[in-house]
Amino acid sequence: MKKIINRNINIITSSLIIIIFILSSLFSYQKEKKAQDEFVENSLSFLTYKKIDEKKLDKFKNSYNIDLLLKDTDGKVLYNSGINKNVIKNYEFDDIDIVKKSKKNYINKETKVFAKKSKNKIIAIKFYNETFILYLFKRIYILIFGMIFALIINKFFTNYLYDRITNPFKDRINDKIEFDNFKENPKKYVENLRLEKKKIQKENSNLKARILDIEKVSSNMEEGFIYFDKKGNILIINKAAKELLNIEKDKKLENLVEHDAYKLAIRETKLLKKGKNIELNHDDLSLKLYIDPIIDKEIVSYIIIVIDNSKNKKAEILRREFTANVSHELKSPLTSINGYAELIATGLAKNNDIKEFGKIINEEGNRLLNIIDDILKLSKLDEENLAEGRASVNIKNVVDKSISRFKRISDKKNIEIENNMDDLYIKTHESLFTDLISNIYENAIKYNKVNGKISINYEKDDRGIKLFIEDRGIGIKKEDLSRIFERFYVADKQRTRTLKSTGLGLSIVKHICDYLNYNIEVESEYGFGTKFTIFIPSL
Ligand code: ADP
Repeated sequence: MKKIINRNINIITSSLIIIIFILSSLFSYQKEKKAQDEFVENSLSFLTYKKIDEKKLDKFKNSYNIDLLLKDTDGKVLYNSGINKNVIKNYEFDDIDIVKKSKKNYINKETKVFAKKSKNKIIAIKFYNETFILYLFKRIYILIFGMIFALIINKFFTNYLYDRITNPFKDRINDKIEFDNFKENPKKYVENLRLEKKKIQKENSNLKARILDIEKVSSNMEEGFIYFDKKGNILIINKAAKELLNIEKDKKLENLVEHDAYKLAIRETKLLKKGKNIELNHDDLSLKLYIDPIIDKEIVSYIIIVIDNSKNKKAEILRREFTANVSHELKSPLTSINGYAELIATGLAKNNDIKEFGKIINEEGNRLLNIIDDILKLSKLDEENLAEGRASVNIKNVVDKSISRFKRISDKKNIEIENNMDDLYIKTHESLFTDLISNIYENAIKYNKVNGKISINYEKDDRGIKLFIEDRGIGIKKEDLSRIFERFYVADKQRTRTLKSTGLGLSIVKHICDYLNYNIEVESEYGFGTKFTIFIPSL
């Protein structure tokens, strides 16, 4: 390869030197010719006044490569340089009259004879113009010298270029023999490289297509999906991952999440070349991250799957609270039943009290049954495997049934019932819808005042039906309002203790609404009353 480089550089520099040489010679040739013309003219004037000293004239013509002829006005030769005697003689210069007649210098451009007449002398000079080729030949030593100089310089330049070209390949071609081969015949190697490049380009486009496929598939995934290259740059990240991890800019594997546990897990994954799962809290979310290295001898890439565990976590907490509440709620009536039963069993209860104790045991037993009944309803709703079974139901009928079911209690409190319902058919799950209405209606009686009032109204438009169940009861404090739908939440413990209260009714209501896709809202003014609004969207 060195030879090729050297040859090419030599060709280029030689051509350049030759061109420069010819051009510069041409330039100086022209210049010299002009200078010669001037010189001849000056010489003529100069010689006019000179005495004829043959030696000096010989010296003069020799140093300037000219022929010199001096005649007197009669044509007698006074001096003849002698070299090219005939040449001058044979030309027009013999015709002295022409010279005599011409006012200025006589010039014969063809023969290059210059002549001039002074008082008693006629001088003629003929100079020999070299042809350009001759001129070049005379200067050829410059060219030769330049070429030799260029060849020497080229040798060094070739070495430098050669190193510059081959050095980058040193890292690629580890094998010395192979590297030497490459240096000898880079063509073959470059050809191979070209083929390899083509192959890589093809693989690259295949890979891009596959990445696009993965992107498409992962874009709709609920789980976050991130694919990193070997260096930890993100190649694919789906929408869910961006949202869950709140990623806006490009991130690297190491700083995907600013969390010590995450950083530790990444270090561990890299070191042990093993997948790792971690759980961490990130921006109010409880996330589960599955970090997996893809290994092909070495780690070639990483995949991280992000799962939002917040719901599970919340559900887990709720489940634990619920279990604790259930045990507590079941325990209190049982304790009182047990207590009174024990008093009767051990004969410690007085005869008069037995009836009263029996009544308490009966009430507490009923409370227990109510709680168990509600828990069963809730767990049924939790399972979410209730039959779809929606049928056409007349809301008015459901409301009427609830009113008559709780008539005894509402009458007891002398509650005025204002029922403005009309026949209104909706497609719904009948038993759930009945539970929903009766729970709210029962509360409206339970938490009402004596001589209170309950109004049932509705509004209907294109979007659906709004059902209002409003009471003028005790109302709910603002701080309790947002919590009344929680399981076992009892707003005013002191007051509700005496009522048949489980704290599960509204929780069931909320569940039913979620299940049926209804919206429920509550407004209340403590001491004045409460209004529940159920929105039933048109199907
Ligand atoms: P429960 O009625 O069995 O206590 P709920 O879940 O039905 O349980 O109700 C939760 C709490 O919300 C009740 O304890 C009560 O304090 C309050 N509440 C519900 N409905 C009304 C109402 N119409 N008026 C006043 N308070 C109410």
